[in-house]
Amino acid sequence: MDNLIVVTHAHVMQIDIDEGKAVGVQAEVKGKPVTFRAAKEIVLSAGAINTPMLLERSGIGQPSRLEALGIPVHKALPGEGENLQDHWNAYLKQLVT
Ligand SMILES: Cc1cc2nc3c(=O)[nH]c(=O)nc-3n(C[C@H](O)[C@H](O)[C@H](O)COP(=O)(O)OP(=O)(O)OC[C@H]3O[C@@H](n4cnc5c(N)ncnc54)[C@H](O)[C@@H]3O)c2cc1C
Repeated sequence: MDNLIVVTHAHVMQIDIDEGKAVGVQAEVKGKPVTFRAAKEIVLSAGAINTPMLLERSGIGQPSRLEALGIPVHKALPGEGENLQDHWNAYLKQLVT
């Protein structure tokens, strides 16, 4: 595929937001800081915990929480990171003889 580049050993630290629009991401690739600019859009899919964490680090979330951490608020999103639900399981085993 000539329109896909996969970068391994990359850890995204923050989304760059310019005038309310996500325009790129800052990452560490093999320990070195790298900035990626988006040609069109950014798909954020870092999992149930890291996705809201990345949004919050980028200034999207509950204003009081972000301000307490010294993160400039780009977008107030009060429900961000507030609805993680554990899947409770009860395992039953029975020996059939
Ligand atoms: C124990 C367990 C069992 C499960 N069993 C099932 C099941 O049987 N059936 C089912 O349908 N679902 C199951 N799930 C749920 C399923 O795994 C998730 O719904 C699914 O993996 C979510 O996919 P995702 O791509 O959104 O996130 P993930 O699979 O979590 O992928 C996120 C990726 O982002 C990467 N990442 C995170 N932060 C950064 C960052 N800052 N920079 C760069 N990369 C980053 C992570 O390394 C990871 O590779 C289970 C989950 C768990 C924990």
